[in-house]
Amino acid sequence: MLIEDYQIELYTPPWNPGSSRFAARARFAVNISKVLPYLNAVLRSAHYVPSMNMLMLKQEDLLIAFHPYEISITDAANHEDAERQLKPYIDLVNQTWERRQEIIPDQRTRPRPTHLGIYKLLPQTNCRECGEATCYIFATKLMLALKKIQDCKPLFEAQYQAQLSALNEMIAT
Ligand code: SF4
Repeated sequence: MLIEDYQIELYTPPWNPGSSRFAARARFAVNISKVLPYLNAVLRSAHYVPSMNMLMLKQEDLLIAFHPYEISITDAANHEDAERQLKPYIDLVNQTWERRQEIIPDQRTRPRPTHLGIYKLLPQTNCRECGEATCYIFATKLMLALKKIQDCKPLFEAQYQAQLSALNEMIAT
């Protein structure tokens, strides 16, 4: 087993300082860098950056980041919730490491949408229907999985059909 013990920490998300919810991380003493290329091979939607020793994964509204000595998530209600959400990723690291003989490690970085690329496909009217002050902030939060495409209602109007389709494809990729 690679990660035998870990500590859960909650912290105020820097991107949402007034929030009543938390970001969280599981910290451990072992360096899990060596398992990241194996995780990158099995998690086809992951974004692996070898130069930063980091692998990111989006699950629904949650962003999960694997670092050498920690795994972090972008949203948790409390300590128990953080433990419940982080435990499966701890298990995933351990299981992937145990199965490494069956997996061909993948060192590639898959292309990922940028907030500017997303912004270019939005209506750019800053109408605030999504609850954000500008389309640019919305684009940044969409990239971080803190917003959904469906939160931008104007994008579903007929005139933006091509942009919506391109954005759906970009996010799916
Ligand atoms: S709802 Fe859409 S168009 Fe309006 S501000 Fe938000 S992202 Fe921009």
